Amino acid sequence: MTYFSYHTHSSYCDGKENPEDYIKQGILQGLRAIGFSSHAPIPVATAWAMKTSNIDSYIQEINQLKEKYKNEIEVYLSLELDYIPGVSKSFSEWKKNYGLDYTIGSVHLVKAESEEELWFLDGPDTNYTIGLQKLFKGDIKKAVTAYFKQVIEMIETQSPDVVGHVDKVKMNNKGRYFSETDEWYIHLLDKSLDVIEKAGSIVEVNTRGIYKKKSDKLFPDDYFLKQCHKRNIDVTISSDAHHPKELLCYFEETRNYLKLIGFESVTVFHKGEWIIENI
Ligand SMILES: [Zn+2]
Ligand SMILES: [Zn+2]
Repeated sequence: MTYFSYHTHSSYCDGKENPEDYIKQGILQGLRAIGFSSHAPIPVATAWAMKTSNIDSYIQEINQLKEKYKNEIEVYLSLELDYIPGVSKSFSEWKKNYGLDYTIGSVHLVKAESEEELWFLDGPDTNYTIGLQKLFKGDIKKAVTAYFKQVIEMIETQSPDVVGHVDKVKMNNKGRYFSETDEWYIHLLDKSLDVIEKAGSIVEVNTRGIYKKKSDKLFPDDYFLKQCHKRNIDVTISSDAHHPKELLCYFEETRNYLKLIGFESVTVFHKGEWIIENI
């Protein structure tokens, strides 16, 4: 199987090093394709999203690199788009306006029903815990349900090509607030699988939690992936690299794990389209 990395963050957002450094490293590591997916600007103050003032140079730079390296590696232009109801811009507008090759849709900030503030579940543990108390009065079921509701709404209304780290909400749980085998939690996973199956979205198997030692499992893991296999939902492997050295982190292990589950193929972006390739 070929090597690829479609979910990467450079110095344009919260990643380290310039895009070209990723390309050079990608060539060294034998990648066939590399895609850039900086966190798209959002109208909320964050330490990780790209500044609106940088979007044009980002697009221009990636497109130039695409041309410069066309004989060595496939370079793709993307964005990791946050979905926040009533706040984020339409994914199809982003794709059309900036000529993105594909979109990765993720939820990092969860809207609580009656609150203005957002629950940041991908940051430090303290933010997770404080947000859970403050915005959801410590009701983890309510908070996790709000997260998946947003993920589901994103898939249904925004049709991202790839669904980013679909169960990221478990990262800061660390077995403290709920069990991932709880019936209500499995029910939320099932509901998400239903809409993914219907929409034909691609599920990324995100390895970042493992190699950054923030999670002992993939996003998503066992149950969800077995269901993807059963339901013929396409999957791809993402390292969510924030440094050139991370492009293929935990790639082989994930590939072997998918084979163990029974997957015979993964979805790859090749020559401008998503295709199925033997694993
Ligand atoms: Zn993300
Ligand atoms: Zn990411």
